[in-house]
Amino acid sequence: MTAGILDGKKIGEEIRAEVAAAVRSLRERGFRPPGLAAVLVGDHPASRVYVGSKVKACAEAGVFSEKIELPVSTTTEELLSVVNALNGREDVDGILIQLPLPPQIEEEAVLRAVDPAKDVDGFHPVNFGLMTLDRPGFEPCTPAGVMELLRRYEVPLKGRRAVVVGRSHIVGKPMALLLLRAHATVTICHSRTQDLAAVCREADILVAAIGRTALLTHDHIREGAVVVDVGMNRVTDPEEARRLFGSDENRVRIVREKGGTLVGDVLPTAMWEKASFYTPVPGGVGPLTIAMLLSNTLKSARLRLGA
Ligand code: NDP
Repeated sequence: MTAGILDGKKIGEEIRAEVAAAVRSLRERGFRPPGLAAVLVGDHPASRVYVGSKVKACAEAGVFSEKIELPVSTTTEELLSVVNALNGREDVDGILIQLPLPPQIEEEAVLRAVDPAKDVDGFHPVNFGLMTLDRPGFEPCTPAGVMELLRRYEVPLKGRRAVVVGRSHIVGKPMALLLLRAHATVTICHSRTQDLAAVCREADILVAAIGRTALLTHDHIREGAVVVDVGMNRVTDPEEARRLFGSDENRVRIVREKGGTLVGDVLPTAMWEKASFYTPVPGGVGPLTIAMLLSNTLKSARLRLGA
């Protein structure tokens, strides 16, 4: 079977173009642009890259953004006062606290301090509760992006068996709730699940959000299943790349020449050989997360502006 690709890069671009058009229309009607504040504490290199791409995506969509960089020694109280100031600002519709925070900061307290009406990451307990109750609010960007991808590719969900591997608060658990809302019959797996492969093989739609390189293999995928791979893991060893990418010489060459490549939580050859459709890594779920962040910021601005 030749598997089809669920092209997150293309759908992400579509969503971003739609946000940009909606922002233009807001401006033409005399409203201010939507605004996003991104708070970065310390100098975690990956976080810096993530915040950089979010700020760039905002600029491309006409969304105002402000990067607030704080030293690694910032205390919980100092961060709380920054968050409170942002909560009060009229030009800020979304507040993003880039995780992870340095260990001295109480992450839970900071995330709770964000005004739920500006919580465009969908991490606040109020928004999580609203999502659980199927009421309007902000949904976490990664699972919301996966739902949008499945919707745009018209992957049927109603009555189908969905298995989500991973139960984190930002990916696995909300993913399962959103699939449930779409009338799938959902199973959530985690590190204590017994006979993971057998449970995964029941899935019409299999979502991997684990953070372990190619943990799911041929053994976990039912022939013809739709596989969504949220995982982003770095592979640097060319021998390991050969095992993972099989005949795809190009990916092995990238590892040799550039020193590494990204691989998901599902063995690529297993997706190619057994799935009906799958998300590639990179270019699958990743681009949707930023697109949904912009979409949530636009939604927040519209609500605030009454536009
Ligand atoms: P977490 O580490 O918070 O959660 C991982 C989950 O996987 C846990 O629920 C854990 O179970 C489960 N797990 C770990 N080992 C196993 C195992 N051997 N068998 C079954 N389940 C297992 O990770 P996140 O949810 O934050 O992220 C998951 C992946 O998605 C990562 O690779 C991350 O980089 C990626 N990611 C990608 C994004 C994107 O935009 N594409 C955005 C966010 C994340 P337990 O609860 O029992 O410990």
